[in-house]
Amino acid sequence: NYAARSVYKLKEMDKRFHIFKPGQTVLDLGAAPGSWTQFAGEKVGKQGRVLSVDLQSTKHSFADNITFLQADVFSDSPELLEAIEPLAPFDVIISDMAPKTTGIKFADQANSLELCQRAFEVARKYLKKGGNFAVKIFEGGEINDYRNEIRPHFGKIKNFKPHSSRAESKEIFIVALGFRGIEE
Ligand code: SAM
Repeated sequence: NYAARSVYKLKEMDKRFHIFKPGQTVLDLGAAPGSWTQFAGEKVGKQGRVLSVDLQSTKHSFADNITFLQADVFSDSPELLEAIEPLAPFDVIISDMAPKTTGIKFADQANSLELCQRAFEVARKYLKKGGNFAVKIFEGGEINDYRNEIRPHFGKIKNFKPHSSRAESKEIFIVALGFRGIEE
C-alpha cells in the first residue's frame, strides 16, 4: 500500500527512463506523505538507501533502507547536512516539491520555479557524476529558461507528462539523465 496516488507518476517515469537501479542512494525532496519514497526504496532494495526530506512530517513508517527527515530544503540546518553528507553523492535526486497553491497563476509558477531551482542547487552539490535528476515543475513561466540552465549539465533531458497526472494539472516533470558533474 502506497502513501499516495502520486506513486503512479514516478512508476511511469521509471518505466520510461529507467531512473533507479538496485543498490543506489536516492535523495527524495518534498517526500511527504511518502509514496515516492516507498517506491524508490523498493527499487534500490536492501543494499540501497533513500533519504527523504519534507517540510511536513508523515504518519507512514518505512522500510529500514529509508530515512525520513522533516526539514525545509532551503535551510542549511546541521540536522539536514548531517543526514545528507554521509550518503552523498547520490545516484538519483528526485523532487516532487510543490508550493502551497495560491490560485494566482503567476505566483504559483514563481513559487514552483524557486523550488526547482533549489532542487538543482542541491543536485549540483550532491549528485554523483552519471546520476539522474527528476523534478516537478508547473508549466508556463520560465520553464524553458530552467531547462536551458540545467541542460548543459546532463547527457539527456526530457519533459515528461505522466498519464496518471490529472489532465487539468499544470505539472510536468523534467527528467535529466547522466549528470556531467560540475567543473570547479
Ligand atoms: N512525492 C510525495 C509522495 O509521493 O508522497 C508527494 C509530494 S507533495 C506533491 C509535495 C510536497 O512538497 C509537500 O509535502 C510539501 O510539504 C513539500 N515541500 C514544499 N516546499 C518544501 C520545502 N521548502 N522543503 C521541503 N519540502 C517542501
